Amino acid sequence: MIKKNRLSSEQYAENFSDIHPPYENITAAKVDANRCLFCYDAPCMKSCPTSIDVPKFIKQIATENIKGSAKTIFSSNIMGAGCSKVCPVEKLCEGACVYNLLEEEPIPIAKLQRYSTEKAMENKWQLFQRKASTGKKVAIVGAGPAGLSCAHTLSKEGIDITIYEKESKGGGLMTYGIAAYKVTPQFCEDEVNYILSIGGIEVKYNQELGRDITLAQLKKEYDAVYLGIGVGVARQLDIPGEKLEGVVDAIQFIYDIRDKGYPSVPVGDKVAVIGMGMTAIDAATQAKRLGAKEVTMLYRRTEAEMPCTKHELDIAMLDGCKIIWLAAPKEVKGLDGKVTELVYSKMQLGEPDASGRRSPVDTGETFSLEVDMVIKAAGQTPFENLIAELKIANSKGKIIIDNNCATNIQGVLAGGDAVNGGKEVVDAVQAGKDGAKAILKFLGFNM
Ligand code: SF4
Repeated sequence: MIKKNRLSSEQYAENFSDIHPPYENITAAKVDANRCLFCYDAPCMKSCPTSIDVPKFIKQIATENIKGSAKTIFSSNIMGAGCSKVCPVEKLCEGACVYNLLEEEPIPIAKLQRYSTEKAMENKWQLFQRKASTGKKVAIVGAGPAGLSCAHTLSKEGIDITIYEKESKGGGLMTYGIAAYKVTPQFCEDEVNYILSIGGIEVKYNQELGRDITLAQLKKEYDAVYLGIGVGVARQLDIPGEKLEGVVDAIQFIYDIRDKGYPSVPVGDKVAVIGMGMTAIDAATQAKRLGAKEVTMLYRRTEAEMPCTKHELDIAMLDGCKIIWLAAPKEVKGLDGKVTELVYSKMQLGEPDASGRRSPVDTGETFSLEVDMVIKAAGQTPFENLIAELKIANSKGKIIIDNNCATNIQGVLAGGDAVNGGKEVVDAVQAGKDGAKAILKFLGFNM
C-alpha cells in the first residue's frame, strides 16, 4: 500500500543524514592533502569540466591556506561546494588521479574540496570583488547551476543581472533533483545565498518564461538574455497502464521529498524503479529510506552499459535495492485503478546503437513483479513546446547554439541542460561560464 509517514522522525533523520562525512579537523585534511603528488599537467584537473586547479588547491590546504584554497576552487567553479557532494568523481577527477595507476586509493579530491568550500561558506568569506557597474543589464532565465554560474561571472565584470526563476528557490537541479542525503535543502539554500552575496544579482522567483514573462519583454528590457532553463519533463514509458495510480515520475518524487519533507511523501511497500541513471538511483535509494519494504530497479541493458557509476550502484545495493538487468517494462497492471503488477520483457544485447552501446533486443519472454508503486526514471526530455513557442531553433527540443553560445535569435544566448539534453551539475557550471564569456563579447567587452 502506498502511504505517507512510515517512519519516526529519528528514523527519517538517520536515513537522510549526509552520506559523505566531512573531515573533523584540518589535521585530518592535511594528512590526505600531503599524499598528493602535485603532478605536473595534472590529469585530475584535465578531467574536471570546469578545470579546477586541483594540485594548487590541495597544496593550499597542505599549507593551511584554506581561504586561498577556496578561492582557487570557486574561481573555476562557483558551485564547487555542491559539486564536491554530487559530482561523479570516480569518473572525473578522482578516477583520473595517478594513484589509480599505482593501484592505490586516489586522493579524496571531493572531500578536500568540500573542506575548503564549506569553510568559506560557513565563514561567509567574500573572495571576489564585483567591478563597478558598467550600466549593462542581462536577464538570465533559470537560477540553476548554468544560470547562477553565468550570473556570478557576469556580475564580477560589473554587469547588472536579473534572474527569472520559475520555482520559489534557486539552485535548479541541485535544489530539486538530487537525493536529500547528498545535498540537504538547507545546504542548497546556503550555497545559492553565498553565490548571490557578490551583489549585482537580483532573483525574481515564481516567474516562468511563457507564463509570467515573455522573451520579447526580456529582449526589450535587457542588453542580452541567457536561457539556462534546463530540462524538465520525464520521459514517458509509452506502455499500457502508465496512467494508473501509483505510477510516478522520479523527478517529481525527488522534488516532493525536497519540497514537502520526508513524512509527507507517500511510498509503496513494493516499489519498482525503471532506469539506471543517477536519478533512478536517487529515487530508488530514497524510496527505501522513506520506508519501502522492497525496491527493485529494472534496466534494459547490463551493468556494463548502465549510465550511473559503480559507486552509485553500490549505494543502491547497500540500501538493499534489488537489480534486474536486461528487463524492459511492457505493461503496468492494476486493480481498481491502482498498480498491482509490472510486466517486463526479458532482453538480450544486440548490435551497438548510435550511442555505441549494445542495444537491447526483446527475447519475447516475459516476467512479472508484484508491485504497488512504479517510479519512472528513464530520462528527461527538454521543454519542447516552450522552445517551439519561443521560435528558438532546436533539435527535438534541445536548443541549438553556435560557438558563441548564441541561439538563432539575436541577443539570446543559451547553455546547460537545455542545450545538451541533461548532463552533470559541473557541466552546467562550465556552460554558464562559457555563456558569460560569450555575452561579454556580444556586449563589446574585450576579455
Ligand atoms: Fe594529486 Fe592525484 Fe591530481 Fe596528481 S592526479 S595532482 S596525485 S590529485
